[in-house]
Amino acid sequence: MKVLISETQIQDRVASLGSEVSATYKALLSDEEPLLVIPVLSGSFVFAADLVRELSVPSEIDFIQLKSYEGSSSSGKVEIVKDIRADLKGRNCLIVEDIVDTGLTASFLLESLGDRKPKSLKLCSFLHKPSREEKKVPIDFLGFSIEDHFVVGYGLDFNGRWRHLKEVVIYEGGQK
Ligand code: 5GP
Repeated sequence: MKVLISETQIQDRVASLGSEVSATYKALLSDEEPLLVIPVLSGSFVFAADLVRELSVPSEIDFIQLKSYEGSSSSGKVEIVKDIRADLKGRNCLIVEDIVDTGLTASFLLESLGDRKPKSLKLCSFLHKPSREEKKVPIDFLGFSIEDHFVVGYGLDFNGRWRHLKEVVIYEGGQK
């Protein structure tokens, strides 16, 4: 499998993202009002774990897990199978995604979590495939834009495997 993004490139970019996110929220947060980081399981667990350790602002983590109908993440019909525990009302919230592909999942999340009246709701995605976009979503913080390859590693899987890889690799023969 061909390495698309190396471990060092990932580490450098995630450190920069941590600074970007911290700078954005610096004046808004306190120990009494930490940033609510919402990683989307399972793909973003590695990215989120690294990102929160690069933040210099107070944060809490609350995971959400989704299920796509028809066995495809791109069907657009998404359901929450594990909801967050926190009340979003009046909170500064940051959704952490592994990859924005068609944009359907992220747009569902922005809409359904946005309905819960957070003070702010932003999106941070490790990867983006702009050529696959069906629904435009505002990605406030982005790790890397990539070409239309099916990738695994750094939390991303194929049939449950390869999440542990320290780099992002192109999975030949991979499909959605
Ligand atoms: P979207 O709704 O944006 O089309 O899909 C987002 C989800 O599709 C991601 O959270 C991820 O689970 C899956 N996905 C999209 N592209 C890839 C890819 O290249 N590799 C892997 N492993 N998953 C992907």
